[in-house]
Amino acid sequence: MNSVFVEDMDWVNYRERTYDGSQRIIIPVGAIEQHGHHLPLNTDVVIPCHLAKALAEETDNLLVAPAINYGYKSQVQSGGGNFFPGTTCVSGSVLENYLYDVMDAYLRHGNRELILLNGHFENAAFLAEAADRLTEAYSQRGVRVRVYLLSYWDFLDEALISELFPDGFAGWQLEHGGVLETSIMLHIDTARVKMQRAVDSEPASFPPYNVFPPDPDWVPASGTLSSPIAASAEKGALIVDHCVANMVSHFGYFR
Ligand code: ZN
Ligand code: MN
Repeated sequence: MNSVFVEDMDWVNYRERTYDGSQRIIIPVGAIEQHGHHLPLNTDVVIPCHLAKALAEETDNLLVAPAINYGYKSQVQSGGGNFFPGTTCVSGSVLENYLYDVMDAYLRHGNRELILLNGHFENAAFLAEAADRLTEAYSQRGVRVRVYLLSYWDFLDEALISELFPDGFAGWQLEHGGVLETSIMLHIDTARVKMQRAVDSEPASFPPYNVFPPDPDWVPASGTLSSPIAASAEKGALIVDHCVANMVSHFGYFR
């Protein structure tokens, strides 16, 4: 089977596969961000990369671009905050412009449809802005292009959420370092998760506003916003299978 990774191809092979716009290019976008004591800093990169590869292998018109590793600044109420050691983020305008240029390059190669697969909550608005500006610029030149923007957690339906969180679901924002991400990481690569270091805690609770500069006292000391203790590789497999199947049902055909 041919590799689904753009970075593995030589330029001649890449040109043959893409010049006519018959492929979609999927770009995983993540972040380097603390995820508690038990998960690696690149959790938000590893997950969308794994899903992108799985999605590409299920379809015959999808190639995976190298991931964008750095994301928008971690926010207290969704990622613990930008002040944690190891959390290494860029400003919104930098992310937006960088992604704009990367997407523009793929479009100039002849590709006409791109998929941004987001793995970091805080990125979404900046990805939307880059996609909006870029598609507008192409449409003014009379070229029809499309950019799809998706965050993987939006592909889990209510039934699965209640199965995974029998005691109630606190919302995706609080899933930072919790059952969702920990289970997926256990499924992808158990060796990268140190469950013996996982800290059990109540879900974080925040006031209905933010403050800048951020107040570290708002955040559980472990850095996770909900407990990862109930995570398991089995739940991770369920989540990944469900996500990929649901994405295939939306993106497994072309046009
Ligand atoms: Zn995360
Ligand atoms: Mn994140």
